[in-house]
This record gives sequence, structure tokens and C-alpha cells, in this order.
Amino acid sequence: MGVMQTVTPAGAIESLPLQEDALRVPAGVDIETIEAARKHGTPLRDWPKAAANLYREEITRRIYREQHFLFLVGLLTCLATIVIDILVNPAMVMEGAVLRILAVAPLTMVGLLAGARGWTSVLKFCVGASPIAFIAVVVQLGFMLPPELASRYLNATILLIGLANVMLPYSLRGLVVFDCAALLVTAGIIAVNAPQGIGAHIDQITVFALVAAATLPIAARFERLLQNNFLLTLRARIFGRELLEANRNLRSLSETDPLTGIPNRRWFELQFDARILAPGEKGRGTDSIGLLLIDLDHFKAFNDSHGHQAGDYCLTLVAEALRDVIESKGGIAARYGGEEFVGAVRVTDKSTIVELAEDVRGAIADVLAPADKRRSPMVTTSVGVGIAPAAAKLPREELIEMADAALYAAKDRGRNRVEVVEAEAAFNIGSELRR
Ligand code: GH3
Ligand code: MG
Ligand code: MG
Repeated sequence: MGVMQTVTPAGAIESLPLQEDALRVPAGVDIETIEAARKHGTPLRDWPKAAANLYREEITRRIYREQHFLFLVGLLTCLATIVIDILVNPAMVMEGAVLRILAVAPLTMVGLLAGARGWTSVLKFCVGASPIAFIAVVVQLGFMLPPELASRYLNATILLIGLANVMLPYSLRGLVVFDCAALLVTAGIIAVNAPQGIGAHIDQITVFALVAAATLPIAARFERLLQNNFLLTLRARIFGRELLEANRNLRSLSETDPLTGIPNRRWFELQFDARILAPGEKGRGTDSIGLLLIDLDHFKAFNDSHGHQAGDYCLTLVAEALRDVIESKGGIAARYGGEEFVGAVRVTDKSTIVELAEDVRGAIADVLAPADKRRSPMVTTSVGVGIAPAAAKLPREELIEMADAALYAAKDRGRNRVEVVEAEAAFNIGSELRR
């Protein structure tokens, strides 16, 4: 693993404030497993499969991200060494340049193409093959010089292999494969070119192998650091996800009525503005808004005669019934408090608001309807409706006030009925209210 890398799960840093996509956690990986792997320095092969796969995926992504930089550095280093040709043997500059370009440029091109097309294996191959090609060119050039100069070029390859081990974004195993390939290629070119045979250069080949081997522990150490870093950020991600989950639960709790399970007043107030008052593209300027206050009739008496628990059960049935009716018309419904509920709709034809209120009243009457249809329902309800043109953008409080006035009238006029208070005209709101 090259020293130049840092592998961090993508988005670990950006995950504050917490965002779902940034907190991608592999399935079946929990904090305890991650902590155990980190503390005991568990090798990658013994990690949970999903975590190991994600780590490898991140490394591949890193290679993609750095491919341009790596190929550019390779190409520039390769060309910059032409200066050495100029200093050592100016007669060889042309051949040197051509050899370099022929060996390295095609691999760079193929590598960049592979990166753009998503051919992972080809890209990984080219990233390693281009420094090997470069090393091969340097060895070859060495043998085009007088023997005493050849050793200088061979020594330069030793520097190159050390640098490559530190720079290349491979895993430790990948680096071992890379080093072996580089060693074989170097030895091969020496064997083909050396006048006194490969034996005369065994010292240089040994140093080459030693430098490759000596830089591997550095790479191994960095790989361990990267894996530790990866596990730490993975742990942070899992924490983040748990926090997100807890947050979601808290929010749901804070917006749900615990008795009936339907949303509470707090939720209604938030949703009214977003979904009814300003629903974005869904709403038309000519729409009407209806707000329903629904209050059970003589519910105290119901409690007194059937018991509080029966009253609770009744409230739950009523809540479900009225929510179904209101939501079927695209509206929102919530428990407002006690035995009062609230609903709101935005419709194109305002007459449907009154129909909806009647449907709500009927649905509640059906909830605990006696088997004998001639007897009156056990629970009846009064509904106060406030209606206003959507274009008037009447605040929720005003609509509540209108609905409350209508509810008061419904109670006053004998209960088990719907009453309406309607704002007259869009731009003359409140000046004239009529029943
Ligand atoms: P009205 O027709 O005028 O609305 O009469 P009401 O008895 O319904 O009105 P009031 O406001 O006097 O009483 C409301 C009752 O609702 C009082 C209370 O016992 C009952 N209530 C409120 N919340 C709950 C609850 O969560 N569970 C039960 N079982 N009863 C509740
Ligand atoms: Mg009440
Ligand atoms: Mg009541």
C-alpha cells in the first residue's frame, strides 16, 4: 500500500450534518465487530466479508480518483529523466526519449481509457505496468552506454522501485506482485544485454530486491494505518446511522399521539403549512382550503357511563375512522387534544369540504353504531368547518378560529351536526363571515 494514500470511507467527513447516503454501512456489521477488529489488528481477510469488500471497493475508488495524478507523475518523472541522458551521454538523448515514450505512453493512454470506461482490472494493471516499463527502459538505456556508466542507470532503478512501493495505491499483496514483476523484468533485460552474463550484475539485482523488500514493511505499516482509519470511520458511520435512527424515532414519537397512534397537533401544525397552505406545484391558486375541528359530543358522559378505558378505545376507533376519511380526500388529520380532532384539506371545489365534514360525522357515528339501526349512535360528533380561498393564504390560526366559531355554533344548535364559517372573498378576508 503506497504511503501517499489515505483511505477513508467516502462521505465519512461530509456526514455531518447526518445524511443517509453518506452513512452507508455494510449489512451485518456492528460497532462491536468493528471495535474488535480494530483493537486486535485483525487482518483484512478475517474482517466481516461486507466490511472487507467495502474497504476494497474504497481502494479501487481511490485508484480511480488518483489515476490522472499517478499517470501524470509517471509520465513527468519518465520525461524528466531525459535530463540524466543529456548529462551522461548527450548522443543517446533521442533514442532515450523515443524509448521512454514508446514504453510508457501507450500504457498511460490505455490506463486513462480504462479509467474512463470503468475497466478496473485494466486500469490497475496499467498503474503498475507503467513504472515497470519505465524501469525496463532505464535498464535498457544503461546497456547502450559504456559498461562503467551502465551501473549508474541500474542504480537508478533501485531508487525507482523504492519510490513506486511508496507511491502505488495497491494493497500489500498487489505490491508484492508488482515487485516480483519488476524484478523479473529487470533481471530479464540484464540477462539479455549483459556481455558477461547476469552473474556480473548479481549485486545490483540483489540490492534491487532488497530495496523492494525493505520498502514493503513501510507499505505494510501504512496499510495497517489505513485499515485502522477505515475501521474508525466505519465505526463513526455506524454511530451516525444509529443517531439518525434514534432521531427519526424521537421525531416520530414527538409527532404521534400515543393513545390513538395518529399524528398529534404538533405534526398537524407543521404539515398544514407545507401540504395545505403552500403545497408547491400540487396546489392551484383557485383552490379552497377547509379546516375541520371535530369534537365528540357529551364524551364526558360516555366516560362516566362506560368507563375511561372504553372511552380510550372509542377515541382510538374514532381517530382511525376520521383519518381514513380525510386522507382519502388528500387531507391531513390529527388528534388536537382530549376528544377533539382536527383535519384540513385543499380542494378545487369547496363544496367537497362540507361533504367531507359530513362524511367524517357519519364515519364516527358508524364507529360504535348499535346493532339496532333505529337506535341512535353511541358516539356522535360536532364538526366546525372554516373555509377560505387558498389564494388568501389565511394563516392556520385564523382558520382554526373560524372552525372553532363554527364548532361552537354546532354545539349550540344541538350537536351531531356540521357548521361552516366561510371567508367571503380572497382579498376581503375576515371582513364578512357568514355561516
Ligand atoms: P361536548 O358535547 O360539549 O363536547 O361535551 P363533552 O363532554 O364532550 O365535553 P367536555 O369538554 O366537557 O369533556 C370532554 C371529555 O373528554 C372530558 C374527558 O373525560 C374526555 N376525554 C378527554 N381526553 C380523553 C382521553 O384521552 N381518554 C378518555 N377516555 N376521555 C377523554
Ligand atoms: Mg372538547
Ligand atoms: Mg366534546
